[in-house]
Amino acid sequence: MTSIHLNEHTIQQYVITGVLAGEEQKQHLLHCNYCRGRATAYKEVLAGIEGQSAPSFDFDLPALVMQKIPAKKPAISWRAVLVIAGLLVVMSLVTYNLRGVFGAVFKGLSLMTSSLIFIAVISVMIFQLVDMFNKYHQQTNALD
Ligand SMILES: [Zn+2]
Repeated sequence: MTSIHLNEHTIQQYVITGVLAGEEQKQHLLHCNYCRGRATAYKEVLAGIEGQSAPSFDFDLPALVMQKIPAKKPAISWRAVLVIAGLLVVMSLVTYNLRGVFGAVFKGLSLMTSSLIFIAVISVMIFQLVDMFNKYHQQTNALD
């Protein structure tokens, strides 16, 4: 028998599994009142833990948690796509109806130059619209 007591981990493993690793530890536990007392204390604690009933709630916990989780919104809503498409249609109609005015404005410019100006203006307008939509979206999310 060794004079060194069994450590906590060894005693807990013995209480849970009923097995000690070596013959020396078995002999120590047989002859050492201190280690047997600790093993008995752990057995009582384990029996107390196992004797407790499983915790239960008087409400539906998963349902409450799911209510608190916000539904994932799509990055771009169909309503925004419809608004952008509508604006593009309106801009196209206005541009088509004012083609005489645009013809006078772009008179003397090559087709390439007037196309680049037109594309730049449309691009800036689209970026402004997307930025405005994103700010609106952030503000509505902040209100939620
Ligand atoms: Zn001991």
